[in-house]
Amino acid sequence: MSEPTCDVAIIGGGPAGTAMAIALRDRAPYLSVTVLERTAYDTPRVGETLPPDVRIPLSRLGAWSSFLRDGHLASRGTASCWGHPEPRFHDTLMSPWGSAWHLDRTRFDERLSLEAIQQGARVLRQTTLLSSEHLGPDGFRLFLSQRPGRACTLRARFVVDATGWKAPFATAQGARRRVADRCFAMFGAFQVQTGETFSTHAMVESCEEGWWYSALLPGGRVVVALVGDGDSLRGLRWATPEPWMALLKQAPATLARLKPCDFTGDALTAVPVLVGELDRLHGERWLAVGDAACTYDPLSSQGISKALDSALLAAEALEQHLRGAPHALQAYASTLHERFQDHQRTRGHYYRQEQRWPGAPFWKNRWEALPHHLPPLPPPRPPHFPEVNP
Ligand SMILES: Cc1cc2nc3c(=O)[nH]c(=O)nc-3n(C[C@H](O)[C@H](O)[C@H](O)COP(=O)(O)OP(=O)(O)OC[C@H]3O[C@@H](n4cnc5c(N)ncnc54)[C@H](O)[C@@H]3O)c2cc1C
Repeated sequence: MSEPTCDVAIIGGGPAGTAMAIALRDRAPYLSVTVLERTAYDTPRVGETLPPDVRIPLSRLGAWSSFLRDGHLASRGTASCWGHPEPRFHDTLMSPWGSAWHLDRTRFDERLSLEAIQQGARVLRQTTLLSSEHLGPDGFRLFLSQRPGRACTLRARFVVDATGWKAPFATAQGARRRVADRCFAMFGAFQVQTGETFSTHAMVESCEEGWWYSALLPGGRVVVALVGDGDSLRGLRWATPEPWMALLKQAPATLARLKPCDFTGDALTAVPVLVGELDRLHGERWLAVGDAACTYDPLSSQGISKALDSALLAAEALEQHLRGAPHALQAYASTLHERFQDHQRTRGHYYRQEQRWPGAPFWKNRWEALPHHLPPLPPPRPPHFPEVNP
């Protein structure tokens, strides 16, 4: 039997991978695109918040109407206690793009994978990339495992790494992650009591150890996270929520809004929070997209929008590259790098606004790590890809 092949293999069927598949098939329907996704879209994921302007990339992907039908929770905006103890509200009422959103993340990821299939891509669930062999100008042979217990290979002319921050494929090609900041988030789950209500505002509240985040999710679940670093969260364990609870009791605004909720008693979830970018976003016959390319601070709530935007840019660049444009992938990488630098500047601005705990390790670590003197941004310009004849 001959070996299965495709023009473009996308490893990782999260928002970046499936958006890339949709956009690529839309721009270049003559390309065969296969998405390889480790899960069956049944692994519970923490629900994230999306800003109102996520409507722009979702509309460009043709996925806005299905997004609206999927029961994500409209949010009125954010309440933040940052640099001051009392909450200040940033309402989305005046936003031209409408409300922000609290995501049912599993549903969101699966929906985009279904849109990719609709657009003509193949999506192989429960399929994990194990390793790869570079075939020079012919692309790559990918070694895969498929549940239950099957091994197979796939030949691809071009490979996209959309596996999230670990970027195993890009790092196997020699790319290295430049980590600008390294934190952790410890999540706990609450449930709104029957008959009670809960504000749809997300809340951010800074504290000596870092900052708290809380948001209502579809189904009356409330996600509560403490983001801190190795110094400030030392001693906290996911299996024993008591020390985490003790810190929550010192966050007055977050504690107050949780009054109509019960702690579910589930173990905490601890996840790394890295801010950084790969030193190379592309190489011979491959590129990286989404978190695999660069990761933003969750304080910005921009990770998913950024993943979708980078997928749209990458699809355009790859289509141009495959038609012979010599600098298309470099232009893509430069645009992402400039945006990351911009993000770093914005982070610096926000973290310096909080001055209430000057001696606390978390805040000292941020101030020392954040760039003071990044060069000013050049005036914004749309990414430019040289035009070539088909
Ligand atoms: C604590 C925290 C809070 C956050 N809050 C927000 C928020 O409020 N709003 C927001 O917009 N963003 C938020 N983010 C960021 C957001 O989650 C990410 O930016 C987003 O998920 C990136 O999408 P992606 O598709 O690039 O990667 P991922 O979502 O990580 O998707 C990668 C996919 O690749 C698959 N995969 C991995 N390895 C393999 C392999 N070897 N073979 C096959 N498949 C593989 C995985 O199963 C996964 O489906 C937060 C992040 C953190 C850590």
